[in-house]
Order: sequence, then C-alpha cells, then structure tokens
Amino acid sequence: MAALKPAPKAPAPASVPSEAAIQFIDLKAQQERIRPALDRAIARVLDHGQYIMGPEIGELEKRLAAFTGARHAISCASGTDALLMILMAKGVGPGDAVICPAFTYTATPECIALLGATPVFADVLADTFNLDVDALPGALDAARKAGLRPRAIMAVDLFGQPADYDRLLPFAHEHGLFVVADAAQSFGSTYKGRRAGTFGLATATSFFPAKPLGCYGDGGAIFTDDDTLADVMKSIRLHGKGSDKYDIVRVGINGRLDTLQAAILLEKLAIFEDEIVARQRVAQRYTAALHNVIKVPEVPAGLTSVWAQYTLTVPGGKRDALMKALAGRGIPAMVYYPRGLHEQTAYRGCPVATGGVPVAARLPQDVLSLPMHPYLDEVTQGRVIAGVGEVLG
Ligand SMILES: *Cc1c(COP(=O)(O)O)cnc(C)c1O
Repeated sequence: MAALKPAPKAPAPASVPSEAAIQFIDLKAQQERIRPALDRAIARVLDHGQYIMGPEIGELEKRLAAFTGARHAISCASGTDALLMILMAKGVGPGDAVICPAFTYTATPECIALLGATPVFADVLADTFNLDVDALPGALDAARKAGLRPRAIMAVDLFGQPADYDRLLPFAHEHGLFVVADAAQSFGSTYKGRRAGTFGLATATSFFPAKPLGCYGDGGAIFTDDDTLADVMKSIRLHGKGSDKYDIVRVGINGRLDTLQAAILLEKLAIFEDEIVARQRVAQRYTAALHNVIKVPEVPAGLTSVWAQYTLTVPGGKRDALMKALAGRGIPAMVYYPRGLHEQTAYRGCPVATGGVPVAARLPQDVLSLPMHPYLDEVTQGRVIAGVGEVLG
C-alpha cells in the first residue's frame, strides 16, 4: 500500500479528464473490447430490418438455453416482465400469497402485487443475503392468518449467488408451492455444478445494463424445463396469441425483447464466461485483502457467484461514515438496499412472516457495495482496498 497517492479532499472537478475516477460498474471498458463486433451486429439488424422477433431472437434463445442447460429459454422485455409472465402463466391472482424475501429489489414483490396477489415477506440470512429457509414456516403461518392461499415461493439469488435450493425446493414440494427463481442478478452463477436457470418451476433473469450480463436497454429472459408452461409464456409474451396473431386465447402483454438487444446480447454472451472468471478474480482479491478488516460476503461451498455486487457488512452505525470517507477519496460505494420492502410505503400492508424479519430490517443500515466489474484492474482495486483499510483500520 506504500505507492498510494494522497487521497484527494473532494472528487476531481468534472473539467479534469480523470483517468483516476473509479467506476462503480464500468460498461465502457467492455464496449471498447467488443465495439467492432457490436457495430457489425447492429448493422446486420439495420440491414435485415426485422426489428421485432427477428432472427437474432431465436439464435439468442438457443444459446441461452445451451448456456444454462434449461430446456426452454424465452427472451422478453425485462426481468420484471419475466417474473410477471411466470406468475401470469400459473394464474396467480387475488387471494393468493407468494412468499418472497423482504431484502431484495422492488421488482420481486411488484409483479406479485400487480396481479392482485399478496407478497408475504420472509427474512434473509446475514451471511448470504438470501432467503432463510427456516423463516418459511412463519411465512406460511402469516399467509394463512391473513386468509390467503399460499401458492409459491419467489426465491431471489441476491448479489449474484444462488439461494439454497436444496433446502428450498423440498419445503415448497411438501407444502404444494411452486418455486420461481429471481435470478436477475445471478445469471451465470452455479449451485452444486448446475447453472442458475435450472432450479424450481421457472427462472427469471434481467439484461438491464448493469446486471452481470446486460444489454443496451431493457431486456430479460425466462428459463423452464416445463413444455406446457413455456408455450403459455410464449403466448403471453405476444398479447396472449393462439394459432395466429389475431387469435387471442388469453390476456397477455407486449413482453418481447427487441431484435437489436438480442444482437447485442449475442456478442456479450460470447465473452461472458471470460468476464465471470474476471469478476471472481476481483472478488477473491477483495476477500483476501479485507476479510480481516470487515465482514466480507460469503459464498457457501459448492456455489459460485457472478458478483452482481460485492457487499460488505459494516455494523455498529459505521457504514455511512465509511461510505462518506470513501467518496472523499474518489471511491464510489453504494447501498443496496436502503430499506426492507416490508418498510416501503407501497408494501406496508403486506403480511410479514411470523417471527418477523430482523435481519432484513438491519441490513439496510449495515450493507455497502464496493466497485465491481470484470475490468477492475489491480491498481485501481488497490485504491479501493486501501481506502477501506484506512477508514476502518
Ligand atoms: C434488476 C432486478 C429485477 C428486475 O429486472 P429489470 O430487467 O430491471 O426489470 C428483478 N429482481 C431483482 C432481484 C433485480 O435485481
């Protein structure tokens, strides 16, 4: 840590071209790497002109299925639509309860509520940030006390690592619930040798630009091994079409992915394995340097993460001071998430698992995510590590 430049008092003014500015997520470095291929891919779409459901859509779906090992990959307009279409295909609606973690992105409970069903919030584990399977009986209890019919568990693979499916799936089976995996942050991760996309009834992922595999706009995909469900979701994606475009057999949505985004994703998927390795290298460097300084994220044996976020736990009210001190050194750090969903205005009326959600209630005060992307070089990462060490040391 000897070769460090002194920390600037404030971030450099915008007029100074700053190589020194650290990116929280660097999408530009990736673009530079594949720009000629992206330009050619975009030009091909402009040439053939099939902007909706063009040939790149089928090609991408084939490659996504092969990548995950799922039987069906269905591209769609966003991760939110992916979750929504799974629940629509299962006929989830008023009177139904869907259990989900209280500590997640807002899209998770949103698609439950959009269908008139009720999210029931359960607690997460402090070590992995994922659903606590031991909290599920309390969630069932709360759902029944609220007069709701438990239908499903929406598990979230938060910050890039899979939830505990070996414990989750038998619990769901025992209670007649289906499992939806919200893998918006974990596409490319593995659980005991299997890729995200192959757990539960169906999996949703997101290609929002900042996700591990992102496009240049909104996008998403659904994965399932269930042929009937896949057919229903493909129909829902196209306004509920039947045998042709003007034969409408169910209420659907406009849930399509743009051909342009599929073309972009094909080029990004080609380097994704390589980027996952780079992400894991960055995470290992953080963990090696910081595990004696502060609580670092844990990945249980047999699992891999794609590190959508690298998230520290900074207890004792020191998180905000750390974040501020890092900002003063030009180091961006972010709070995912500043509030539990059970405390958000829109969801305050929803049942919370019997026993409460003490971990989900505390994490918003303690978590801090550090810069994380595949192109974070060792020198730049060294500045982040030194900054955290200086402030907490
Ligand atoms: C990003 C995200 C979503 C929604 O994906 P969009 O493509 O932005 O609609 C859903 N769940 C989680 C956990 C996410 O992080």
